Amino acid sequence: MKKTYKVVVGLVAVLLLAAVIYVVLPLFAKDSIQLVEIDPVLQDHDEQTWISFAEDSGLILRGQDGKIQSVYLVWKDLPGQWTLIADGKKITCGEHGFLHEYVKLEKPADKVIIQAQTDLCDVYAFEENATIPDWVQIWQDPWEHADMLVMPTHADDEHIFFGAMMPYYAAERGLKVQVAYFTHHWHQYPREHELLNGLWTVGIRAYPIISEFKDEYADTIPEAEAMYPLDDALAYQVGLLRRFKPSVVVTHDLNGEYGHGVHKYNAYCMTQAVALAADATAYPETAEQYGVWDTPKLYLHLYPENQIIMDWYKPMDAFDGRNGFDVAAEGYAKHVSQQAGGFIIYGKGTEYDSRKFGLYRSTVGPDVVGGDVFENITKFY
Ligand SMILES: [Zn+2]
Repeated sequence: MKKTYKVVVGLVAVLLLAAVIYVVLPLFAKDSIQLVEIDPVLQDHDEQTWISFAEDSGLILRGQDGKIQSVYLVWKDLPGQWTLIADGKKITCGEHGFLHEYVKLEKPADKVIIQAQTDLCDVYAFEENATIPDWVQIWQDPWEHADMLVMPTHADDEHIFFGAMMPYYAAERGLKVQVAYFTHHWHQYPREHELLNGLWTVGIRAYPIISEFKDEYADTIPEAEAMYPLDDALAYQVGLLRRFKPSVVVTHDLNGEYGHGVHKYNAYCMTQAVALAADATAYPETAEQYGVWDTPKLYLHLYPENQIIMDWYKPMDAFDGRNGFDVAAEGYAKHVSQQAGGFIIYGKGTEYDSRKFGLYRSTVGPDVVGGDVFENITKFY
């Protein structure tokens, strides 16, 4: 659904928490503003509905009872640079490259104007002292260095096949977990939104890395390699390892779980990338940029050697006592477009058990106790 505002159409609403008036109008029009109810598409929590900005138009937000302290925007696509004008002061936004963006103003403002080239799905504004609801995604930039790098192939694999790896280590244990995807879904709207909604739900706060490889299906590694040349795939993974310097890397089953060729390929490439990242002569550009990195531990899902079984049935304090499976399921439920695929969060007794990971590579010795991918790791960022 798309709506374009071309004329002096005003829209007004009282937002639950913020009590803010919204107006979309050509910014330089001197005509009186006709105030109407806010277009519900801007506050329906639905990325399938949006408005477009006409040229020279903007979205005006006004506090009804108090000043605006922050705004939360869900863009349809990456917005690039956009402008926020707070009480006449122009602020350039979008520099973080976030699709879902929270902006806190330095100083509360009576009037905020948003100008962008990108379609807008949702906007919410919050007054001073408003409690920001949990569903507002206040993303941080990717970690400078991460304790763990999680490398799913597609948006939703991170929940289905890796279970509670993210909520347990990021939220329950408070470690720096960085997620990086092998492929992107920009051509499969609204999967990139679902990706963020899922990660946010399971406690990830560092914005994910999304590759330039377009999601396409393959059965085999050669088929995948034909779409994503080995040199490009390795350069991407080696760059991630050197940039984030993770103690632990978690990725797919070498057999691609249910046989997806790109899952296989992602895992296959990572088994090579961990060695290459430590070699300054391989991909020297990122070696120079970030330094080399010798990854202490690489776990592959379902890898039969040196296998550990994670306890995702344990209640987690960070999620009010809900266990890993509950939380992973909540994350997966955000992938609304993928629910017809018949996938579940694989648990005990299932073919793709998300608790089972094998230690493919270790520079810190074997796991002895088990049940913790950080066993033998002593350095944390
Ligand atoms: Zn997948």
